Amino acid sequence: MKSIDLSIAGKTCIILPGTSFDSLNKFCAPDNTVIICDKNIRILHGDKLSPYRIIEVEPGEGHKTLETVNTIYEQLLTIETDRSTTIVGVGGGIICDITGFAATTYLRGLACGFAPTTLLAQVDASVGGKNGVNYHGYKNLIGTFNQPGFVLCDFSFLRTLPYDELRNGIAEVIKSALISDSTLFEYIEKNCKVIISLNNDAVERIVGDSLKIKTDIVSRDEKESGERRKLNFGHTIGHAIEKAIGLRHGEAISIGMVLAAKLSEMRGTLAREDVLRIESLLTSFNLPTEIGSDRDAIMDAIRKDKKREGTDIHFVLLNGIGNAIIETIGITELEEAIFDLRQHL
Ligand code: ADP
Ligand code: ZN
Repeated sequence: MKSIDLSIAGKTCIILPGTSFDSLNKFCAPDNTVIICDKNIRILHGDKLSPYRIIEVEPGEGHKTLETVNTIYEQLLTIETDRSTTIVGVGGGIICDITGFAATTYLRGLACGFAPTTLLAQVDASVGGKNGVNYHGYKNLIGTFNQPGFVLCDFSFLRTLPYDELRNGIAEVIKSALISDSTLFEYIEKNCKVIISLNNDAVERIVGDSLKIKTDIVSRDEKESGERRKLNFGHTIGHAIEKAIGLRHGEAISIGMVLAAKLSEMRGTLAREDVLRIESLLTSFNLPTEIGSDRDAIMDAIRKDKKREGTDIHFVLLNGIGNAIIETIGITELEEAIFDLRQHL
């Protein structure tokens, strides 16, 4: 499959969808490369990692912390890493975020690459140059902008991915389609089953198209001042739901996307039948579409969102499927919508 070059701040990342992990040695010499992965990846895919030195961290969001980064620094020191060493993160979004941060800060920046192993990380987390760790309960509060030199997406990793993790990534693929590609949306509608079965052509299509959408948007807007905000479709409410109720990222943004679609309908930019199509597609991947009863906790989390500017939120709505628009919504209006939506629709 074709590679994609993404240039940010004068640095180019080569993204390689559908490339075997075996070709990692073309990008970095095994004797001068350190892999960072979590325990699960080491158990499931350790054989592929054997030519490399490995730093293993504990899996899970709870370990995306400065403490974990500290243990990585200690091991980098012990194994006498120098400025010519390449650090490669092999894992999901958490590993990509931690690896990117550790590699950017150690020795003022080592060469870095990712081999994302979840669908979510292949289509989203590994691309765009954001990294970081959580701090005092706030997600990604500490981090940098710095993209890796390469991202190698080997689809065979996805075969060991639990269905819940797959759904997580599919929610992000559906988001990409909704914000800028109605043809991809229709493709997913028609091909749910082959996508779930990880048919190679289907994976190639959804990963390739999602990467194209994300890299196009990111290269047009490097630092989230304008267009990059479109990638946050479903995420303002989604992040709040994730924090308040503790749903997985994909489940939370699934509900967030439905709410944003309903708000778009209320503002007259999305047809009712399209809201129903969106709900039905998410449901066909067993993704939730209804907000639960914890609306107060969700509003609380939205109020604390670090991306909020004053009392207004830059909110992404749809002007038809495949076309995102950024509107300013007052926090009160959003509150009313979250609490009243069901009565309106
Ligand atoms: P993401 O943010 O990309 O969804 P995470 O980094 O949160 O992913 O990882 C989710 C979980 O899935 C972690 O427990 C991780 O160890 C596990 N995991 C990652 N890749 C795979 C894979 N290919 N097969 C099985 N489990 C995986
Ligand atoms: Zn997301």
